[in-house]
Order: sequence, then structure tokens, then C-alpha cells
Amino acid sequence: MTTRIGITGAAGRMGRTLIEAVNAAGAPLQLAAAIERPGSSLIGADAGELAGIGRNGVSVAGDLAEVVADIDVLIDFTVPEATLANVKLCAQHGVAVVIGTTGFSSDQQAEIDAAAQRVPVCKASNFSTGVNLCFKLLEVAARVLGDDVDIEVYEAHHRHKIDAPSGTALSMGQVVADTLGRDLDKVAVYGRQGQTGARERETIGFATVRAGDIVGDHTVMFAADGERVEITHKASSRMSFARGAVRAAGWLAGREAKLYDMRDVLGL
Ligand code: NAD
Repeated sequence: MTTRIGITGAAGRMGRTLIEAVNAAGAPLQLAAAIERPGSSLIGADAGELAGIGRNGVSVAGDLAEVVADIDVLIDFTVPEATLANVKLCAQHGVAVVIGTTGFSSDQQAEIDAAAQRVPVCKASNFSTGVNLCFKLLEVAARVLGDDVDIEVYEAHHRHKIDAPSGTALSMGQVVADTLGRDLDKVAVYGRQGQTGARERETIGFATVRAGDIVGDHTVMFAADGERVEITHKASSRMSFARGAVRAAGWLAGREAKLYDMRDVLGL
């Protein structure tokens, strides 16, 4: 049975890549709707042409409400406020949602949790297979190295990224903190400046770089006296995220209402 996919933020960096990825995936997935923010000059444009893959006959809509009845799964990589409105609308219409947007507050996350009681939702700070494998490797490293090492997370992204540290860096910190029984809210240190004092062992530091067109680099460092282990992932194309999100959309169709993440999709 065909799974009809809608993409919000269709003209964005991820939106265009997602249109290409749905096309590459082929049957049973089918692009049924592409949506941009109201007032966008691209409303009415052909989504295939927008993504550089040639005409596909799907015109960009300016409002999800116009097309929500035509889709089974929405893939949303936009901004937190837009994602929340979209998730609520999908919950009302029984449409599953793949959420790639990052930078939600805890109140916003609670609203997503509520929607996931009505429809299946797959939310991940990073949809690439490699990063999700890294989450698993981090668990092993944290378990083996434990409290004998200093743990630091370093991330670098392109100059247009609007949230920091990246959702992926936070997820990496969360995996490590959970494995070691630490509360990330209490032990996270976001950047250092001035007279910081000596490092306390249980802290988990985050360092952020924003520069040029870096798609996404993440390293978690486990540093002891005399040796250190670094687990690094480098994305060189947004297609790695888009392929994962499209795979998640196919996996999500017809599942029970629940909040899933990419590790569920990959069976990790
Ligand atoms: P972008 O700015 O290029 O694209 C966002 C798009 O959303 C824009 O085209 C904008 O017009 C559109 N938009 C805003 N409000 C809208 C609305 N109400 N309805 C429809 N469209 C709307 O940003 P991007 O680089 O594509 O990233 C988007 C999000 O995805 C960010 O939060 C980013 O951190 C996240 N991201 C996640 C992953 C992942 O694997 N989870 C990977 C890359 C990026």
C-alpha cells in the first residue's frame, strides 16, 4: 500500500533534500504534498523543480491544513513553533509525524509527547545511521571508561544554524549522562570563559563552532591521564539525514501511537 508523504519546510536546506530522498526511495513511498510557510514566494512552485530533480506535479502549498487530508506521514524539518502547530494538526487528523527540527524547550517537548499519545511520532535530533550507531558506541565507551575520564562534546556546523549546542550534541551528552547515572541538566557546562576554576570530573562540557558550510561534525572525547578515546561523526551531505528521515517515515506508517526515535527505526 502506498504511503503518502508530506514535507513541511519544503524549500529549506533539508526540505529540498527530503524531496529528493523521497523520490529516490520510490514505491511504496510517494510525495503527496510539499508545504512552505504562509507568504513564501515559492507557494505554487513545482516541488520537484524546487529540489532540482525535475517536475513532479506536486505544487508547494502555503498551509498544511489545505493538504493534511492527502497525506499519511508528515516529515517536518522547520522551526520549533511551526513544528508544534503542524504536529497538533496531524494529531487531529490521524497523520503520523517524523520530526527533525531541533531546539525545542521542555514545554514544547511536553506538547510533542501529548501528540504522540494520539498518533505515531518519530523524533530524532539526528536521522543519520552513522550518528545513531555513534549513540550506541558512546554507551559502550561511557560504561567501560566510566568515572575515570573527563567527557567533552565538541560540535561544528554551518553559519546559518540558529540553535546551539546542536540537538545531536545534546543527545550525545544525554546518552553519556544516562549511562553514568548523571543528571545532564546539573552536570552540563555550555562553553567556558574567564576564571572557570579546575574541571570537576562529573561535568560534561559542550563546545560549539559555527563556520562556513560545515554540514555537521560531532566528537565526544573521553580523556584520561595518558590516553584518550574520541568518537567522531562527520556528515558531508544532508542526504544522510534525509535518507534516514524517509526510512523513518516508511517505518512509522501504521504503527501504534507512541513517541519513537531513530534508534527504534534501526532496531538499535
Ligand atoms: P532551513 O532554514 O534551511 O529550512 C527551514 C524551512 O522551514 C524554511 O524553508 C522555512 O521557510 C520553513 N518554514 C518555517 N516555518 C514554516 C511553516 N510554518 N510551515 C512550513 N514551512 C516553514 O533550515 P534547515 O537547515 O533545513 O534545518 C531545519 C531544521 O532541521 C533545524 O531545526 C535543524 O537543526 C534541523 N536539522 C535536523 C537534522 C536531523 O537529522 N534531525 C538534520 C539537519 C537539520
